[in-house]
Amino acid sequence: MNTQLSSVIITVLYMVASVLFIRGIKLLGKADTARRGNLLSSVGMMIAVVTVLAEKEVVGSFTANPLTNGYVYVIAAVAIGAIIGAVWSQKVEMTGMPQLVALFNGFGGLSSLLVALTQYLNCPRSDAFTAVTLGLTIAIGAIAFTGSVVAWGKLSGKMFKKSVAIPGKNYVNAVLAAAGLIGVGVYACSGANEKLGLYGIVAVTAAYLILGFTMVVSIGGGDMPVIISLLNAFSGLAAAFAGLAIANSVLVVSGCLVGTSGLILTLIMCKAMNRTLYSLLFGSFGAKSSKKGEGSGKEPKAMSVEDAYLILEAASSVVFIPGYGMAVAQAQHAVKELADKLEENGAEVNFAIHPVAGRMPGHMNVLLAEANVPYEQLKTADEMNPQMPNTDVAIVIGANDVVNPSAVNDESSPLYGMPIINAYEARTVFVLKRGKGTGFSGIENPLFTNDNTVMIYGDAKQTVSSLVSEFDEG
Ligand code: NDP
Repeated sequence: MNTQLSSVIITVLYMVASVLFIRGIKLLGKADTARRGNLLSSVGMMIAVVTVLAEKEVVGSFTANPLTNGYVYVIAAVAIGAIIGAVWSQKVEMTGMPQLVALFNGFGGLSSLLVALTQYLNCPRSDAFTAVTLGLTIAIGAIAFTGSVVAWGKLSGKMFKKSVAIPGKNYVNAVLAAAGLIGVGVYACSGANEKLGLYGIVAVTAAYLILGFTMVVSIGGGDMPVIISLLNAFSGLAAAFAGLAIANSVLVVSGCLVGTSGLILTLIMCKAMNRTLYSLLFGSFGAKSSKKGEGSGKEPKAMSVEDAYLILEAASSVVFIPGYGMAVAQAQHAVKELADKLEENGAEVNFAIHPVAGRMPGHMNVLLAEANVPYEQLKTADEMNPQMPNTDVAIVIGANDVVNPSAVNDESSPLYGMPIINAYEARTVFVLKRGKGTGFSGIENPLFTNDNTVMIYGDAKQTVSSLVSEFDEG
């Protein structure tokens, strides 16, 4: 095939892949079309990968000697990655998804970082445009990588569970950011001086790997979902810059899609959480002198399932407030059954969904949709909070931080300013949890000792199923 024709075919295939990505991301916006969106984007990705492989100069030489044949390495890497991905995604529990997603963001950043470093090693001298885009790929990819590894550690509870306060954090971060950018500048201006160029590349790589760590390690509680979404945006931006550095249009398009959608989600989350991007990046979670640990001195009151049933039976309005514990207990189907019983009994039933309930955006919506809870019953905090004082019973199912009234009335709390579901305003509050565990933020919750709150201890699924049985028997 002549070179001109093959380059036209390659461009057309890249365009087809890009259109499939854009269409796919549009379909991902709605629950009922999301599967199709995922499929379309995957087909687009397959077309993009196969086209890249067809472009010989991307992969390297096609020789008879397997040791020098670029395709052998690529196919081996794809096979190993596919096997690990398939086994891992089969094994991961629903509650493990957020940390897996955090790790995916990190691997995305690491891939762009490696692409940029490989490009640099292949061709240490490059024009100013390539040098700057390559340097920025390294910077953003490095932040996305180490930041996401820290986020994975926090979400899985394996590392940095509590936010770590770094003295003079903003100065440290500013110095690291500036040192890295100077490194990019040095590399771009190094010209024929390859040694100087190498110093620049080492500086930006080291500074931004450390910056990813220092930036995320001090973040906790309500700010975590926002930073994860920002890291997702970074992994996309790194890919887009890598596309510019190696002149690959489909990588630019896919990177821009991930980067911009991640940035939009970050801004939406900031708004929902009453935070600014500035306070997220330059503030420090837990830096305020919290009254946590002081406690009110009161003990929470416990109630049996039998007594709780009597109150529910008489209730005419009930609001369920699900949280991470519902996901842990996989209680969503039992919750739907209880909601049906309450409705049959004449009560008005709603679900109040907090934007960061659970461990990933939309976590509760996905679980409740799986249990066929009608979409109209899923209400936002803005919709439900005004109705809370007229609600007979608020049932908090494994939620903690998202119903913590300190966010509203304790200025010293690190949660202060975060919007919550105002469960404390309901006439009676049932809190379903296993014991005295705190939520993700590690902050005590005064809701549990309020006069109108009763605790129903136990696994959420078992407790809700017992309440359903009471309705069956009653
Ligand atoms: P929390 O993490 O605040 O609280 C969960 C509660 O569930 C715990 O107090 C625990 O108490 C209880 N629990 C755990 N397992 C069970 C079980 N089997 N049955 C009953 N209860 C159980 O959850 P929320 O949803 O209220 O808040 C989410 C938190 O996660 C926020 O701080 C948010 O910022 C953060 N986050 C959210 C992300 C997102 O995108 N949504 C991403 C990253 C972090 P006990 O141990 O006593 O049972």
